[in-house]
Amino acid sequence: MGWETVIGLEVHVQLATRTKMFCACRTTFGDPPNTNVCPTCLGLPGALPVPNAEAVRLGTRAALALGCTVHPVSVFARKNYFYPDLPKGYQISQFDRPLATGGRVAFESPGRGRLEVGVTRLHLEEDAGKLIHDRVPGKTAVDLNRAGTPLAEIVSEPDMRTPADARAYLVTLRQILVYAGVSDCSMEQGSLRVDANISIRRPGAPGLGTKAEVKNLNSFANVERALEAERERQIGLVERGERVAQVTLLFNAGSGEVRPLRSKEESHDYRYFPDPDLPPLVLAPEWIADERLALPELPDARRARFELAFGLPAYDARVLTSEVALAEYYESLVTAGVEPKTAANWVMGDVMTSYNETGAFPVEASRLAALVTLVRDGMVSRQAAKRVYAELARSPHEPPRDVAERLGLIQVSDQEALAGWVDEVLAAHPAEVARYRGGELKLMGFFVGQVMKRSKGKADPKGVQPVLQGKLG
Ligand SMILES: [Zn+2]
Repeated sequence: MGWETVIGLEVHVQLATRTKMFCACRTTFGDPPNTNVCPTCLGLPGALPVPNAEAVRLGTRAALALGCTVHPVSVFARKNYFYPDLPKGYQISQFDRPLATGGRVAFESPGRGRLEVGVTRLHLEEDAGKLIHDRVPGKTAVDLNRAGTPLAEIVSEPDMRTPADARAYLVTLRQILVYAGVSDCSMEQGSLRVDANISIRRPGAPGLGTKAEVKNLNSFANVERALEAERERQIGLVERGERVAQVTLLFNAGSGEVRPLRSKEESHDYRYFPDPDLPPLVLAPEWIADERLALPELPDARRARFELAFGLPAYDARVLTSEVALAEYYESLVTAGVEPKTAANWVMGDVMTSYNETGAFPVEASRLAALVTLVRDGMVSRQAAKRVYAELARSPHEPPRDVAERLGLIQVSDQEALAGWVDEVLAAHPAEVARYRGGELKLMGFFVGQVMKRSKGKADPKGVQPVLQGKLG
C-alpha cells in the first residue's frame, strides 16, 4: 500500500502600497538600511499605529479575487514573540477574527486535471525587519526598513496531494493576485513568500498525519523540490517504524535537502490578544460590494473570453493570459485589426521570446499590426516579416513599410515585373521548358524557385505561378 501526501500552503504577499501598514514610512525596496523608519515601526514607547486604508483596500481586493467572504468586522491582534527583527516584541496580525475566510482557487494540476483548493482565510499583518549576517564581520545587523510593511497572509486548506499540485496552485494564485493588482508577487524581492505544511497518511485514512513545516522556499520550483524531499523523508521514517515529529524545516536549494530548524511544540504559544491601540476594523458592506464590482477581469474569465470571442484553442488562450501584460498586448493587436489566430501566433512566437528575455515589448502593438497587414496584403512574406520585426525593435520610429523597403523585403506582385523575371527564367532554361511542355509538370517548382532567385526574393510566390502557367501553357 502506498502513501498519500497532504499539503497545505501559507503564502505571505506584500501589498503594493507606497507606505507601511501602520505608519507613513515608505516601502521602497533596496533603500539604504534603516532609512525608512519612524517611532511607530521602530516600536518606540508612546507611538500609535494608524491602519493604512490602501493596504486594507488591497487586502480586501485580494480576498474577493480569491472568492473569500470579507467580514464587515475584523480585529487586529498582537502575536507576541521575541526575535531581534521584531522591534515591538510583537507583530500586529489578525487571529480569531481575520479580514476574510472561505475562498477557493481553481487550477490545472499537471497530473490530476482541474482541481480546487480551499482558501481557509486571508488576514492582514505587518512584516518584520531583516537580519543581515554578512555585513558586519562576526556580528548580525538588523535592517528595519521592512518592519511594518503590509502583508496579506493567505492560508490554504490541506487540499493538495502532490508537490506538483502545490506548485500549480502557487502559479495560479500568483496570477490572480497580479491580475487583481494587489501585489507584484516578486519572489526575488521577497514580496511573495511561501511556507508549506506537509504530512503523509495511508490513502483513505481518516484524519491527518503529523505535519512538518518547510520554510525558506525562494522559488516555486524549490517548493516542489522541497516537498518531494520532505515526503521521501517522512515515508522513510514511518517505514523504519519511527515517528514523524512536528518540526520546522529549512530547505537547502544547493543540496536539495531539508533539515530541522527547531522543534515546533514549545514555540507555539504566541499569546494572541486584541491590540488595545487599534479598534476593530469595520468595513461598510456597501464598500465591500463596490470593491467587488471594481475587481478587474481575472485570469479564468479572460481565458474563457479569449476562447469564445477570438475562437482560440484552449492552449493559446492559456499561454496568452498567463500574464496581464501579454494578454493586454495581444488584445491591442486584435483591436488594431489583426486576425485573432494570426495575432496569437505572433505573440506566442517572436513577441514572447523578446518579452521573456527583457520583460518588455520592443515593438509597439500598433507597429506590429501594420507589419502583419503588409504580410496579409502580400507585400512582405512570412519569412521576411520576422526580419522586419527584428529591425523594428532596433528602429523604434520607422514605419514597418519603410523598414521592409529599406531591407529590400517588399514583395513584388506587379504583373509586369513578374512577367519580366518569368521571361528571363524561361529564356535561360530552354531544356526544362521543353520537358515541362512534354508533360513534366513537377518542374513548376523549379521555375518558381528560379524566379524567386532572380528577383532576390522580392517576387510574390503566389503571383509567380499563374504568370508561369500562362507563359508555359
Ligand atoms: Zn514607520
